[in-house]
Amino acid sequence: MIVLGEDKLDAVSHLYTQIVGLIGGDEAVEVAEALIQLKKATEEQISTKTGLRVGDVRKILFKLYEKALIAYEEIKKEEGDKMKSIFLWLPLIDQVEGIAANYRRIILQKLRSKLEFVEKNELYYCGKEGHRTLVFDEAVENLFKCPVCGEPLQRMDKENYIRKLNTLIKTIEDEEKE
Ligand SMILES: [Zn+2]
Repeated sequence: MIVLGEDKLDAVSHLYTQIVGLIGGDEAVEVAEALIQLKKATEEQISTKTGLRVGDVRKILFKLYEKALIAYEEIKKEEGDKMKSIFLWLPLIDQVEGIAANYRRIILQKLRSKLEFVEKNELYYCGKEGHRTLVFDEAVENLFKCPVCGEPLQRMDKENYIRKLNTLIKTIEDEEKE
């Protein structure tokens, strides 16, 4: 087993959500982020975490399952005299390095424009994981309150974020050379 440094590990899960985004769009990214945080989860738990409807979560899960980006475990539970199946979904983050090869150029392009965007703009957020990041104009429109939880927005310290994006870009570029 390869032990990854924290930055690299972070880069790999970031890469994972990027690929999920290319395949399933923004809502799929939310599902993937929820799965990474929860490690294993039912449709209902993902729905609660993301605020997406269970039916929409299910559609996204099937799409990601088809592309081998997630797997599931089936657990049988007795309920009265019936057996009930519970499905726990889990992210297959390790698969990513192989899959990434096919999407490498698109991902690099997206990451570079994201980096440019982050470097150029002041960003605002409430500080909670998974909540939206807003540019100045959007922050004004929302009266400097988080559109998800209503907490006050603060200016984001971008240094960390920029470092992560750079690490990720470098990780993918290095892979290309190997
Ligand atoms: Zn918030």
